[in-house]
Amino acid sequence: MWKSRFCRLIALQVVGTFGLLTYLHLATTSNERDRETLQKTQKEYDNVDFGSQVSQAEKVAGLGAHQYLVNTSSSKREPETLNKTNNTYGDVRLGGKWSPTGNRNSSSGEKMAILVTFRDREEHLKIFLSRMHPFFQRQGLDYTIYVIEQHGEEPRFCKGLLYNVGFTEALKDDPSYDCFVLHDVDLIPENDSTPLYTCAKSPYHLSVAVDKLKYKLPYPGLVGGVLALSTSHYKLLNGYSNLYCGWGAEDDDLARRMYKHVLRVKRPDRAVARYHMLPHGNHTKNPEKYFLLFNGIRRAKRDGLSNLHTMNHTVTSITRKALYTHVLVNVTKRNAINTHMKRADVKG
Ligand code: UDP
Ligand code: MN
Repeated sequence: MWKSRFCRLIALQVVGTFGLLTYLHLATTSNERDRETLQKTQKEYDNVDFGSQVSQAEKVAGLGAHQYLVNTSSSKREPETLNKTNNTYGDVRLGGKWSPTGNRNSSSGEKMAILVTFRDREEHLKIFLSRMHPFFQRQGLDYTIYVIEQHGEEPRFCKGLLYNVGFTEALKDDPSYDCFVLHDVDLIPENDSTPLYTCAKSPYHLSVAVDKLKYKLPYPGLVGGVLALSTSHYKLLNGYSNLYCGWGAEDDDLARRMYKHVLRVKRPDRAVARYHMLPHGNHTKNPEKYFLLFNGIRRAKRDGLSNLHTMNHTVTSITRKALYTHVLVNVTKRNAINTHMKRADVKG
């Protein structure tokens, strides 16, 4: 009798201990898995393969797999050349300006500059202009499109520097802009459920669901893609860092500046702000980006709008084209990154 009770006790203990060990094992490995998944997602985002060239169909009609902005007839109105002066968008004024006519006010009540940084993506720009002019007009915005194009000897694309140049030049063009939308040339809203472009909820990150990124934010701090920022907030942040050249992290640096100034990023619902990314190859990596991010906040006051005039660029020309204002920027080779650092920047 006591023998069988003893055996049952031993069996229970063995089962219990085994259960506990299994639980502990599962708990630690799932933690590791979470960590791995996180690293993997960030790595994957670093290495997303953005596909090859724009498809022939997209080139011809400005359409992709889905029919973006289905209610437009603008595919028939593709700008044949980007320099075309007699544009078929009728009421877009020279330089890519448009505002509601008569005594209608803009629906956001804002005067808006759309900044598009650009190099070597002509097919994208054609599609962007043909889609976005009608879209902005349906939204009832008072807007101007500025395309800030990099040329010159710097091989890497310096997006933050270009945005700062665009911001500065747009305000010289019209000091009354109170809202800036920083827009990738390859992001096209899928339909008109996209919320009103506005800085009222500034900073307002609109491109929260991109098909290429599986309609999910790859990480919570992402502010790249399409971002609306009021003029006063852009100035408060001292704009972007001028030092990021090559792919990535200039937007993460900006997000840190927002965090420092306690500016909370607002985002629309994923269900209504869906974008298609036009296909493109990956562009040149930026090996310095982690180092720059590491000391980004310490440099923020000195690196941005405040020292733009000392940076490696000149504005070659500003031309009013039929569908946009073209700001051509010669970006010369940048000095080694450490020449921009103070000792205080790099201490741990
Ligand atoms: N861009 C460009 N030419 C380049 C690299 C970037 O015109 O060689 C501009 C363009 O507006 C593009 C944006 O910078 O949409 C972001 O770059 P990319 O699309 O390569 O990066 P992603 O945001 O897709 O990671
Ligand atoms: Mn892209």
